[in-house]
Amino acid sequence: MKLAETVTFGGGALARHAELRGNVRKQAELLADPAARTLAIWRGKPLFELANERCAPGWLMTGDRVLAQAGPPVFLGLAGGPRFAVDLSMWEPDSLPDTLTDFFDPSEQRHPDLPETARFAELRGTMTRLSPLDAELIASAKAVLGWHATHRFCARCGSESTMSMAGWQRDCPACKAHHFPRTDPVVIMLITRGNSVLLGRSPGWPEGMFSLLAGFVEPGEGIEAAVRREVFEESGIRVGAVSYLSSQPWPFPASLMFGCRGEALDDTISVDPEEIEEALWLSREEMIRVFAGEHPRIRAPRQGAIAGFLLSNWVADRLD
Ligand SMILES: [Zn+2]
Repeated sequence: MKLAETVTFGGGALARHAELRGNVRKQAELLADPAARTLAIWRGKPLFELANERCAPGWLMTGDRVLAQAGPPVFLGLAGGPRFAVDLSMWEPDSLPDTLTDFFDPSEQRHPDLPETARFAELRGTMTRLSPLDAELIASAKAVLGWHATHRFCARCGSESTMSMAGWQRDCPACKAHHFPRTDPVVIMLITRGNSVLLGRSPGWPEGMFSLLAGFVEPGEGIEAAVRREVFEESGIRVGAVSYLSSQPWPFPASLMFGCRGEALDDTISVDPEEIEEALWLSREEMIRVFAGEHPRIRAPRQGAIAGFLLSNWVADRLD
């Protein structure tokens, strides 16, 4: 797909410089570089610079006193200077909203030592306003710091492990095992039959929300097989030819979405209520009405997610 890397979180072309990660002295030099900047992430929410239409990472200088409570820096790469990320979850704001655990938490947190325009906010609400490079930097920071936060202990022997390789590895001091950041593969598929596309909705989704079917790839399974298995499990539809379209890192918390298309071999839907609540076929003309916000039942896909990206390109006949 020619437009594959125009998806949100795609096409950032971040110069990650993995060769610099293992050099402890070089890492110290990079951090001390006057052009170095660090992105703080508080409980999964990155610090943003939000002013009117402007939306960018809230970069902090090395030595900023806000960073005194932060964890060790993760080296993200070179992007106009060295770029790092730290976990600032230790910081306690004066009050906590009760929306923190919601699917989408609209609250924003302000640190008293930072300007009014610097706020911790949900990446879901800002991702479509970021440049591709900023989006990749933030997605990488959020994903790798989220991994550290949930993988403190060695999966082999249970001892507490330590961050190494500038944040891209954890080492176990007891059994000497090395652990690497996880990315979980997910297939998400545009299944078509003639002029129609297959949509489904999960139990508990907001009213009117439908999306492409999706599911985790299982160990030992290829992408094409996962597409066919998930579609059959969820909708009872058999899929023939499968091809790859586009991928999207999805750091909520650690997925890599493989956008695929597949041709349905039949059109009789039989949903598994354990998996999805409803599935349906929608014609291209109906999908245009969905995007226009004119469909009586189905609301337009969320901005930024690969499902909407694939559907809008299918409607516009730009999947080639
Ligand atoms: Zn161990």
